[in-house]
Amino acid sequence: MASSSESIIDSYTRTLDCVHCGLCLPNCPTHQVLGVEADSPRGRIYLMRALAEGRVEDPESIRPFLDRCLDCRACETACPSGVRYGEILEHTRAELERAKPKGGLAAWLTRNLLWHVVARQRRLRFAFSLLRLAELLGLRWLATKLRLMPKSMAELTPPVPPAAERTPLKPGLHTPPAGTKLRNVRVALFTGCVMEPMFGHVNRATMEVLLANGFEVRVPAEQRCCGALLVHAGHPDRARLLAAENVAAFAEDDLVLNNSAGCGCALKEYDHLLATDDGAAFAAKCRDICEFLAAEGLTATPAEQPLKVVYDDPCHLCHGQGVVNQPRELLQQVPGIDLIGANSSDDCCGSAGIYNLLQPALAQEIGQRKASNLAASEPDMIVTGNPGCMMQINSHMRRSGHLVPVRHPIELLLPPQ
Ligand code: SF4
Ligand code: SF4
Repeated sequence: MASSSESIIDSYTRTLDCVHCGLCLPNCPTHQVLGVEADSPRGRIYLMRALAEGRVEDPESIRPFLDRCLDCRACETACPSGVRYGEILEHTRAELERAKPKGGLAAWLTRNLLWHVVARQRRLRFAFSLLRLAELLGLRWLATKLRLMPKSMAELTPPVPPAAERTPLKPGLHTPPAGTKLRNVRVALFTGCVMEPMFGHVNRATMEVLLANGFEVRVPAEQRCCGALLVHAGHPDRARLLAAENVAAFAEDDLVLNNSAGCGCALKEYDHLLATDDGAAFAAKCRDICEFLAAEGLTATPAEQPLKVVYDDPCHLCHGQGVVNQPRELLQQVPGIDLIGANSSDDCCGSAGIYNLLQPALAQEIGQRKASNLAASEPDMIVTGNPGCMMQINSHMRRSGHLVPVRHPIELLLPPQ
C-alpha cells in the first residue's frame, strides 16, 4: 500500500509534467463558467505544486479551488503532455484532509454518509426503505415546501422505486436460458451501491442482456461499494478497505463487468489505489459493460427502437476509461434506431458524484449547459451509462421543459420480450 510520503512525492512529480500550455482550459467546465485561472486545470496544478513545494502559507486558501473541481478528467483527454490530473487532485485532497479535516455540516455529512451508509449495502437499502416510506407519507413534498430540502436536490433525485424494483440481483451463478447458444466466457457482475436501489432495472437489464447473449454471470455476495466517492472526497484510506474486500470477493473471476462509469473508473484504478500486485491484477480484469459487449459482439438482436437517440458520454467513461466508440457501435446495432450526435457530448453534466449537493450553483449552471446542448438535437431519447449523469441530465432536461426519457445503453440492447 502506498504510504503517505510516497503519495506526496508521486503527486508532486506529476505536477512537473504540466508545461502550462493552456490547451486544457477550453475543455474545463469550471473554467468555462467562472473564467478564472485558479479554477482551471493549469491554475489548480500550479496551486497544488506550490502546496507541495511549501510555498502556500495557508493550505486552506487553495481548498475552494480544488473543491470546485469536478474531477471530470476532461483536462486529461485534452492534455498533450499526459498530465495525470486526477491522481494529483485526489492525492492533494487526501493530504489536505489528513492535515485538517474539512469543517462544516456538509463535510461532516459527506464523511459519515459515505462511510457509514453508502458503503454498507444493508444500511443503504434500509435508508432507501425509509426514504420510500417518507415519500409515501408526503414528507418529501413537505420538506421541499418548508425549504428543509433544497429544491435543486428534490428535482435531482427521482422518487425511490417500490420495494420490488429495489430487490438486489440474486447472488451466485446465473446461467443463460435453455436454447441460448453458450459462449465460452464466464463473467462476474459488479452491481454498485446506488445502482441497486435507484436503478435496479439497469442491473436487471444488464443481467438479461448478458444471459441472452450466452454468457454465464456470477454475482458475488461479498462485493462492496467501489469507494470512488470516498477517493474523490479525500478519504483514500477508507476506499482502500473497500477495494481490498472487492479484490477478495472477485478473486475467482477472470472478468469483472460493471454498468456505472464512475464505479468502473474507480475499479480500474485499484492498481494505483492499492499499489499491490493484487490491486493491479484486479484492475486489469475490469470492463465497462459496453466495452465488453462491443469486443465480444452481440449474438441476440436487440428489440426494435424506432427512435431518434442521442448518446451522451459520461466523463468517467470517455475521459477516465477511454471508452468512446463502443457504446455507439452497440447502439447502432439496435434495429430502427437513429443515432444522432450532440454538441459537446463529452462535456461534464455537473453530476460528479455528490458535487451537485456540495456545489449546487455551479452544478446547476453546468447542468443547464448540458441540457441545452442535448435539447438542440431534438432527440426522442437520451442515453448515457452512469447513474449520476442519468439523474442530472433528467433533472435539467425537465427543468428546461424537455420531457425526454433518459436511459442506460444496456436497456436498448434488451432482446424482444
Ligand atoms: S477535472 Fe474537470 S473540472 Fe477539474 S480541472 Fe480538469 S477539466 Fe476542470
Ligand atoms: S494541457 Fe496539460 S500541460 Fe497544458 S496546461 Fe493543461 S495540464 Fe498543463
